[in-house]
Amino acid sequence: MSEFDYDLLVVGSGPSGQRAAIQGTKLRKRVAIAERKSVIGGTCVNTGTIPSKTMREAVLHLSGYRYRGLYGASYTVKENITIADLLFRTDHVVNSEIEVMRHQLARNGVETIVADASFVDPHTVRLASMDRRGHRDVTAARIVLAVGTRASHDEHIPFDGQRIFTSDDILTLQGLPRTLTVVGAGVIGCEFASIFAALGVRVTLVDKRSRLLPFVDGEIAEALTYRLRENRVTIRLGEEVSTIEPVDTEHGEKVRIKLASGKQIVTDKALYSVGRQGATESLNIELAGLSTDSRGRLPVNEHYQTAQSHIYAVGDLIGFPSLASTSMEQGRLAACHAFGVAATSVPALFPYGIYTILEISMVGRTEEDLTDEGVPYEIGTAHYREIARGQIIGDNNGLLKLIFHAETRELLGVHIIGEGASELVHIGQAVMALGGTIDYFVNTVFNYPTLAECYKTAGFNGINRLVA
Ligand SMILES: Cc1cc2nc3c(=O)[nH]c(=O)nc-3n(C[C@H](O)[C@H](O)[C@H](O)COP(=O)(O)OP(=O)(O)OC[C@H]3O[C@@H](n4cnc5c(N)ncnc54)[C@H](O)[C@@H]3O)c2cc1C
Repeated sequence: MSEFDYDLLVVGSGPSGQRAAIQGTKLRKRVAIAERKSVIGGTCVNTGTIPSKTMREAVLHLSGYRYRGLYGASYTVKENITIADLLFRTDHVVNSEIEVMRHQLARNGVETIVADASFVDPHTVRLASMDRRGHRDVTAARIVLAVGTRASHDEHIPFDGQRIFTSDDILTLQGLPRTLTVVGAGVIGCEFASIFAALGVRVTLVDKRSRLLPFVDGEIAEALTYRLRENRVTIRLGEEVSTIEPVDTEHGEKVRIKLASGKQIVTDKALYSVGRQGATESLNIELAGLSTDSRGRLPVNEHYQTAQSHIYAVGDLIGFPSLASTSMEQGRLAACHAFGVAATSVPALFPYGIYTILEISMVGRTEEDLTDEGVPYEIGTAHYREIARGQIIGDNNGLLKLIFHAETRELLGVHIIGEGASELVHIGQAVMALGGTIDYFVNTVFNYPTLAECYKTAGFNGINRLVA
């Protein structure tokens, strides 16, 4: 018998924690997950990825936005969309996902414990009941920390979940505001800005940087900027926020946002979306002999081990790239390594999906990266409107762009904006992973009519540019 209560204790039941735990039981280890919320799934299922993506889908459907390319700009499926309309679909999907995950964990023999976990020493974790009435200490040979992040708070901003929100509570809005100001034009800020704008809310998007989504290819980010403006989003870039405060005006309860440039914005609601912080405050991490960086995150090596080799950290807690997809894989790989199963690191080539309206997805390098690195490249583009499928679905704005080496013709990047971008990108990802060239797309046959045909059109376009 082992001297420990568990072979593996996982703290946190988000995507990374679940995959670590299931991998552990697949290796026939005694595994438990401690989760402090009464529901499993983490930020991903309960407040972040799944609710926001489901809400987006509901908005695209009910507002008629998706079909306006066919039926005109005033087409709507439902007048006066309410929060209840949106939550109906969101709650259904979230509850189904939780059920699926609960079954998965139970079927795989993972013990789930509802408790707030904190360290007593490097192998002992205190599991406190959520009513704070009691606790028990358990020991584990190996521990995976998968506690994720919470929205960053600025102590000078009076967040109240009524007028001033973060991305953790924005979906608890009681009604649709007339105006919304989003501070922070990162992925989450841009996603919410575009979702609310599609509902007809007057959105202002503020960021101190000079462009939206700096890691996205410039042409694609510009296309998003254009679409947002078309949806009446006011974009204020290069603007620093000085204060955000609730004010009571003759027109009702508002929020006043003062900018360092002297401008001020008065808005019904404000969403502060400026980064996320590792959820490590209550872990007593120092009792495990560990310390976090200034943003509460834990440094790890390529096997996801912290400075204590039996304690692993995975998912958003370790920072970049902070995606549900990569978090799952990190959890699985950490558990493999913990029990001596050969495992790699998450591959460097992974896709990004950004669920703005229009949807964006990318894999590989951008034009800006390659210019900085002095790599000779060429591009090939295809507009959805040139493709039969684009016409059928009424997406006249979609664009697929291939970037390839001008001499070797190797595919270096795929950047897409438009319907289905986050699915479509995987074709390019596979070709890149296998070291393919732009010629693959020209010489292959795609189903017709599909958006995938954009690859062929972009391939021809790219090769023609080489000849020109
Ligand atoms: C609004 C929003 C939209 C997003 N959209 C996408 C998207 O479209 N695609 C994508 O790939 N990613 C998206 N993400 C990111 C994605 O949600 C995260 O990458 C993912 O949830 C990280 O998983 P995780 O397992 O690291 O942590 P989490 O999902 O955050 O789970 C951590 C869990 O640990 C628990 N916990 C914390 N501390 C303790 C403790 N001391 N004791 C016990 N339990 C504890 C928490 O309660 C939580 O359940 C989005 C995030 C947000 C906020």
